[in-house]
Amino acid sequence: MNMEISRRQFMKSAGGGVAGTTLGALGFGGIEAALASSIRPFKLTGVTETRNTCTYCAVGCGIIIYSKGSLAKGERADIFHVEGDADHPTNRGTLCPKGAALLDMVHAETRLKHPMLRKPGSDKFEQISWDVALDRIARLMKDDRDKNFVARNRDGVTVNRWLSTGFLAASATTNETAWTTYKVVRSTGMLVFDNQARV
Ligand code: SF4
Repeated sequence: MNMEISRRQFMKSAGGGVAGTTLGALGFGGIEAALASSIRPFKLTGVTETRNTCTYCAVGCGIIIYSKGSLAKGERADIFHVEGDADHPTNRGTLCPKGAALLDMVHAETRLKHPMLRKPGSDKFEQISWDVALDRIARLMKDDRDKNFVARNRDGVTVNRWLSTGFLAASATTNETAWTTYKVVRSTGMLVFDNQARV
């Protein structure tokens, strides 16, 4: 039987459990078993906990994702609960309504799970692999930079800038990732560079 049980009901049942044990000793074991079967096991027992970052906004709250099923055994991870990470320095376990509803986003039919490409002239997107997607992005960036890179301005001053491509970085990253991203992007000469934190 799948019963919702409140904290108050649990305390009552725990007290009842003591009484039930006594009842069992007196030969009323059936009552004790019925009471025990009415208490739902703690739902987070024996599941996989995965730490992650909320996908929604620039605050970057820490979350814990709970799943059943072992990936190591080739099983599919079935995510059934998401909550704030009490050990995370940003949010200390709290989540705003959007973060608290992350489970709905995880299971949304419309959630994008793969890179998608709409080829020139096509009216639909098709799924591509990450290798194809990253190779294509690198190719297009290189070609565009080769074509539009400005080494010197009209006065002959060295500027080394690339204005025809922009980069939007993720906000929910570590300081180290953000530092590396900044160095890579700026080293190309790209000036149009912003962060999801300002979106
Ligand atoms: S839980 Fe709310 S405040 Fe925190 S990162 Fe997600 S959307 Fe932003």
